Amino acid sequence: MPELSKPYRILVARFCHESHRLNPRPTDEELFVVERGHDILRTPAGVLKGLTDTLAAAGANIEPVFSANGGAGGLVDHDFYVRMREELLVAVRRIKPDAIGLDLHGAMGTTETPDAEGDLLQALRHVVGPNVPIGIGLDLHGHITPRMLDNTDICIACKENPHSDFVECGQKVAELLLEQLEGRLKPVTVSARVPMILPGAAETGSGPLAEIHAKAREYAAQQPSIKDISIYNVFRFTDDDEIGQVVTILSDGSGADTPSIAVDLATRFWVERERFKDDLLTVEEVFERVRSSPDKRPFAIGDMGDRVAAGAPGDGTILLSAALDGYPELSGAVPITDPVAAAQAIEAGVGATVKLSVGAGFTPGFTPRLITGRVEHVSDGNFVVAGIVGRGDPSAMGPTAVLRVDDRIQVLLTTKPADTTDPAAFTSQNVVIEDLDFIIVKSGFHFVANFDGLATPVLVNTPGVGYYRRNQFDYQKARFWPEHDIANPEITARQHSIGTS
Ligand SMILES: [Zn+2]
Repeated sequence: MPELSKPYRILVARFCHESHRLNPRPTDEELFVVERGHDILRTPAGVLKGLTDTLAAAGANIEPVFSANGGAGGLVDHDFYVRMREELLVAVRRIKPDAIGLDLHGAMGTTETPDAEGDLLQALRHVVGPNVPIGIGLDLHGHITPRMLDNTDICIACKENPHSDFVECGQKVAELLLEQLEGRLKPVTVSARVPMILPGAAETGSGPLAEIHAKAREYAAQQPSIKDISIYNVFRFTDDDEIGQVVTILSDGSGADTPSIAVDLATRFWVERERFKDDLLTVEEVFERVRSSPDKRPFAIGDMGDRVAAGAPGDGTILLSAALDGYPELSGAVPITDPVAAAQAIEAGVGATVKLSVGAGFTPGFTPRLITGRVEHVSDGNFVVAGIVGRGDPSAMGPTAVLRVDDRIQVLLTTKPADTTDPAAFTSQNVVIEDLDFIIVKSGFHFVANFDGLATPVLVNTPGVGYYRRNQFDYQKARFWPEHDIANPEITARQHSIGTS
């Protein structure tokens, strides 16, 4: 990065949540980890880290406002969202920054609006006007709306699923913002949308998605004016107009070819749509595999239906019951969200034997499970993510108790939905994962990266709101394949201009 002509003042903030409309537990302030001011620069993670490290190295003046990270869960409490939005707007009016850099998720919805980022960015643009650059770095699981693109100069996503490149994404946002401030970049974004979701095969490292990403990199290498191509894995747990696969291209000036490139990449999704399928094991198949396979133990079993990482409550008991009732020779660890049972176990104290009904407190249709076990560990449930996805991020499971059942199954009773993408969720609770046959993780992709070398990953087909199945969810506004019969769609490119929505 060449030296800056002046020490620009760049306002930075992080406001991240992936909001699942069918998780009946709204995400309120208590479920967010919030830090303010310079505290957010002490150990930043992800996009925020890439942003702030790059800005600091370039000599820009960073004006940190807040970091609010809620992970994934039910719709964000609208009043909390509005308070945070207003806090940000007040800071913007006070600081009068030269540019704004934000770490957002891209699929935040509140109890009142399915497009929280669009609302936030429109409000910011209204305050700063058209000439203050706004740059955002997103999770690729975004619900990307025209309102978001019409109000940002730089809107780009991470490129990998599992998301091992959040830091690089933030770095790129910072570099592009500074290039724009220095007058060396006139960012123009075009987008193309396909009315479909990816029912499966959503990892970027293999299958049709790897091929489409490779084609995007090839286009970018051929055209120096292209600064970024972002390919979003549509977020399907919302119900809004125009949900679909989105491709965005950010170029320096309006390149004549970028609309046709966006359309070509988007069309590839439609052409390849039948290949986007997962290969999930049934509950019986997965435990049989654990029992009989010589592969490295433990097996990390991704509970797809109850994925906290996709916004599910994490209160499923089907895998716990299968392990207790059908596989007496297996040892394992099973996290379950249950604030009431966690409190009862903590109250009883370490060493006590308790009989508790656990799980099924939130997800409709789930069945609680009665267990008797010895309380072997209690804690505040706080840990720091160690693996590549989210490294350095504080994670809060809330008060947590570990119950040992049948002397072989450790049940982690958490107050909040636990992000078990990372081994630290278990090791922080004194669970020795290498001694176990299996651990249940409430994640579908990211755990594969964070448990690399520690466990054998498998995905299991379980009920719940964390996994898309045709006709399971009631969509009123959204129309997309394969939920609806869609004839060959007309895929067109749209150029975005600041402040037009
Ligand atoms: Zn994601």
